[in-house]
Amino acid sequence: MHPFLMKSAREMRDAIWQREISAVELTEATLTHVAAVEPEIGSYISVLDEHARTAAAKLDARVAAGEKPLLAGIPTSVKDNMCLTGTRTTCGSKILEHWVAPYTATAVERCIDAGAIPIGKSNMDEFAMGSSCENSALMVTRNPYDVSRVPGGSSGGSAAAVAAYEAALGFGSDTGGSIREPAAFCNLVGFKPTYGRVSRYGLIAFASSLDQIGPLTRTVEDAALMYDAIGGHDARDATSVNVPFETTADHLRTDLRGVRIGIVKEFATDGLGAEINGVYAKAYQDLAALGAELVDVTLPTAEYGLATYYLIAPAECSSNLARFDGVRYGLRVDGGNIGEMYERTRAQGFGPEVKRRILIGTYALSSGYYDAYYVRAQKARTLISQDFARAFASCDLIACPAASSPAFGFAAKSDPYSMYLMDYYTIPMSLAGLPALSVPCGWVQPDGASQPMPMGLQLCAPLFAERPLLGAAHAYEQATHHARLRTPGLGVSA
Ligand code: GLN
Repeated sequence: MHPFLMKSAREMRDAIWQREISAVELTEATLTHVAAVEPEIGSYISVLDEHARTAAAKLDARVAAGEKPLLAGIPTSVKDNMCLTGTRTTCGSKILEHWVAPYTATAVERCIDAGAIPIGKSNMDEFAMGSSCENSALMVTRNPYDVSRVPGGSSGGSAAAVAAYEAALGFGSDTGGSIREPAAFCNLVGFKPTYGRVSRYGLIAFASSLDQIGPLTRTVEDAALMYDAIGGHDARDATSVNVPFETTADHLRTDLRGVRIGIVKEFATDGLGAEINGVYAKAYQDLAALGAELVDVTLPTAEYGLATYYLIAPAECSSNLARFDGVRYGLRVDGGNIGEMYERTRAQGFGPEVKRRILIGTYALSSGYYDAYYVRAQKARTLISQDFARAFASCDLIACPAASSPAFGFAAKSDPYSMYLMDYYTIPMSLAGLPALSVPCGWVQPDGASQPMPMGLQLCAPLFAERPLLGAAHAYEQATHHARLRTPGLGVSA
C-alpha cells in the first residue's frame, strides 16, 4: 500500500497543495489498493476508475493554476443512495440495481467542487434500512478490523472503505444511526449534522423527516473539513435550513475547560457488561480530565425512542418507496395487467426488511389506525425533543455510547428486533434532529473474537451547535488517540 493512503484527509490535502504528490498519483495508488483489498472487504458496489481519473486530472490542473481547493485530491467514498451523474445508484436494492443517476446530489457536488475525488459508490443496507449491511441485496461488506464481523450499517460500505484506506472521506446518511454506528464498529469518526444542515437533494429518500447526510472519516478534523465543504443552505432541498453556516475546522479545541457535559441517567452502561461499562466510565473520566464539568441529566422519554422511530420511519418509507412501481425507475417485471406488473415488480425488487417496513408503515398510516399509531408517535417525538431541550439547560453537550455492542459476526442478529436494538442510543437524537457524532473511545474483546474490537463514544449537541460539538470531539480524540492504537488487518491479501 502506498504510504500516503494512511494519512488523514487533511495531510493528503496539504501534500497535494505542496506538490509532494499529485492527485493523479494518489488516485492511482488508491485504485491499486482498492483492487487488492476489495475481494476481502467488499466496500464498493461500483468502483469509479474513469470518473476518479478524470476528476484527479482536473484537480491537478486547478492546483497547477495556483488554486488551493479545501479537499484537494482526497479519495472519497460515496454511499450508493447518493446520486452522481452517470453512475449506477442502487440503494443496495435489486429494484435500482441498474439505475444510472441523471444528476448529482448537492452534497456530493460540493465535495467534488472542493477537490475531492470520487473513488466508488459504497455498499449499504437496502434503502438504508439496517445496522450491519447484511440487508444489501447486492453484496457483502466485511469489517476491516475482523473480516468475520459486520462493518455496521447502513453506511457500512463507506465505513469499511475509510477504515481499509480505500478512501479518506466517506459519505454516509443517518436516519436513526447509520453514520454513527458503522463509525463505532470501524474505529472511525461518524458525524450526523443537525437535520437540515446538509442538503438532501439527490439523496434517495428513506424517512424524509430524519434523513441527514454526513462524513465518515479517520479523524475529527477530517469530518470537520468535509462538513465545512458540504454544509449550508440549498434552495433545491425544501428542508434545508437557511440559517448562517458556521465553519468548524477552524474552531477545533484541545481542552474542554468550561464545557458542561451531561451524562444521561437512562443511558447507564452497567447493563452492557463490565468490560463495556469500563470503557465508558474511562471515557467520561477522560472528558473530565480535559477540564469538562460532568453533570447528571435525565431523558425520561428516551426509552420510547425505538418504538417511536419504528412507526415514523416506516410510515415515511411506505410513502417514499411508493414511487418504485416499475413505471419510471429501475426494475420492471411485466404482468398481465398494470396491477400485476406493480405487484411482481415490487415483490421481486424489494428485499424482506424493506417489505416489512412498507407493511408496518402502511398499516400505521391506514385509516382507523393513524391516530393510534402515527399521531401518537409524533406526540412521543415531541416529548423526546423537549427532554433534550430541558437537558441542554444544564449542559452544553451530552455523552453516551454510540452503539450497544462492538461489531458482531455475520448472521448474529437473526431477528429484526435484535438488529433494531443496535440504534437504541442514536435514535433519540435523530428524532430530535440534533447534531451527534461517534468518536473512537477504546477496545473490547468480544466473546469468541480473535482480537479486540473498537467502541464509539457518542457526543450530542443542541440544534446547530456543530462547532462546539466537533471542537470538543477533537479535544477528546487528541488526548486519547484510541483510533491510532491499531490498524486494520485488511483481510488476507493486503
Ligand atoms: N438501523 C436503523 C434502521 O434500520 C437506522 C438506519 C439509518 O439510519 N439509515 O432504520
